[in-house]
Amino acid sequence: MAETTKDLVQQGLAAARVGDIEDARRLLSLATEQTPDNPEAWLGLAGVVDDLDEKQTYFKKVLELDPDHNEAKASLVLVEQKLAEKREANAGLGVCYRHPDVETGLRCNRCNRFICTKCAKRTPVGFRCPECMREQEDKYYTGGNTDYVIAAVIAFPLSLIAAALFTFILGRMGFFFLQIIIAFVAVPAVTGFIAEAVRWGVGRRRSRYLRHVVVGCLIAGTAPFLLLFLLTGSFFGMIIPGMLIFLGSATISARLR
Ligand SMILES: [Zn+2]
Ligand SMILES: [Zn+2]
Repeated sequence: MAETTKDLVQQGLAAARVGDIEDARRLLSLATEQTPDNPEAWLGLAGVVDDLDEKQTYFKKVLELDPDHNEAKASLVLVEQKLAEKREANAGLGVCYRHPDVETGLRCNRCNRFICTKCAKRTPVGFRCPECMREQEDKYYTGGNTDYVIAAVIAFPLSLIAAALFTFILGRMGFFFLQIIIAFVAVPAVTGFIAEAVRWGVGRRRSRYLRHVVVGCLIAGTAPFLLLFLLTGSFFGMIIPGMLIFLGSATISARLR
């Protein structure tokens, strides 16, 4: 009996080789019926059927009988991959590659992966995933790490001087109300100047964290004065340095984008 099954499998595979798929299917399914515990018969049959679900069933059958069958293992992986792709294409739905528990119909129009609405960024050319956005940005950013050092070397002393001027000159001028109004005009002008000085210093190169470094310098340069007022309990005195930090950070962030 086993001999006959072996013959059927061989005849079936031979038929498949010459393109006679019909005959191959007939012979191989006969072999599986005759000897259901023959893995080679199931493997042969899996190779000659078209339907992916059927293939999957037969490869699994092979592995049930022979769990270490490498060819069946590899084929099963491929078939299941194809099945997943088919399901995805059919449903037009997938899961966000960053959030596997979120179903979505949205795809990144650059890498074509599924992304959820939280991850997707709308760009003029369509939805993009964060990874593709970052790649795009990396091309936009032309500066290197030394630019951060240059930025700090320029921005910190200037911030310190600005903070001293705002605190000791503006902060001591006449009416408090007038100080505030002047600060509203002067802070964007002065911090805008700092931003431009940095931009010039780094040769107009763009860097991802350039504005963060400059804002950091502004805060560091102003902090001693804030601290001075904090320690002396002069809370009114903290308003002008405080404005320098808040208005100044906004100005710098906008200028060095
Ligand atoms: Zn993408
Ligand atoms: Zn997501």
